[in-house]
Amino acid sequence: MARVLLVVALLGVVVIYLWRRRRTVSASTSTADTSTDAASLPLLPGARTRILEQHVRLWHRLPAPLQERLLPRLDEFLERIPFTGAHDFTVTETMRTVIAAQACIVTLGHDHYPFDDLHGITLHPDEFVVEESEEDEDTGVVTEGYRTLSGQAHGSDRLVLSWRDVEEAQSRDDGYNVVVHEVTHFLEHSHPGGDPAAHAALTAAYEALCEAVDRGEETLLDPYGAEDLTEFLAVAAEFFFERPAELAARHPTLYVLLRDSFRLDPASWAPVGNASS
Ligand SMILES: [Zn+2]
Repeated sequence: MARVLLVVALLGVVVIYLWRRRRTVSASTSTADTSTDAASLPLLPGARTRILEQHVRLWHRLPAPLQERLLPRLDEFLERIPFTGAHDFTVTETMRTVIAAQACIVTLGHDHYPFDDLHGITLHPDEFVVEESEEDEDTGVVTEGYRTLSGQAHGSDRLVLSWRDVEEAQSRDDGYNVVVHEVTHFLEHSHPGGDPAAHAALTAAYEALCEAVDRGEETLLDPYGAEDLTEFLAVAAEFFFERPAELAARHPTLYVLLRDSFRLDPASWAPVGNASS
């Protein structure tokens, strides 16, 4: 049993599903060229790499050895993980590759394939609505309602994503990346356990964000990370991969914690902004 991923994984957390509020964005949608993309046709040699070059910003920042390590893991992921389009949404090879590549990049620091427990990915064209109930901690009153999401990790066996949000995350390095976010949730739940010292350090960083948010300060990390420790980890992971130098400069302890956990050092990769997608 591989229990090596995410040494900062939280202990004893039971979550039916986790959601991610979608950040208000101004960018237009549909920048990916899928016109030549037939979902049912096998790709020609080199086509997968061309998709990575054209549509996956992180690909351009990866050092060559990590690019080499990514390709077989990406193939295995795509062979094993079924993608389902919600409500007859057509999932193309570009979509599958963009999502799978980012999911795998998050795990490249570890030798083994970590997605044995992932049984599928459901893709919606845009945000989707889920039912939820919430209990007021003080009164015990349960409120039933609906929530609009851009991503969701169902326990440890299924991810649900909004393609629009996946695609928009490729248009800029702003610290928002729904694939990294939900995959971090998945890894935390599928590989529980962890180092108590790392857990304590993560908790301290989380509490510092909560205090800054309470004081009304502008924070580097998305204030959504103050929701709880699980969301803090996912939000911090987004920044770790998208704007690592900034995270290392502003929150060096947190950066080192994530670097040791993911066993990757994105601050040493090609600078943000070199991507050409
Ligand atoms: Zn989340």
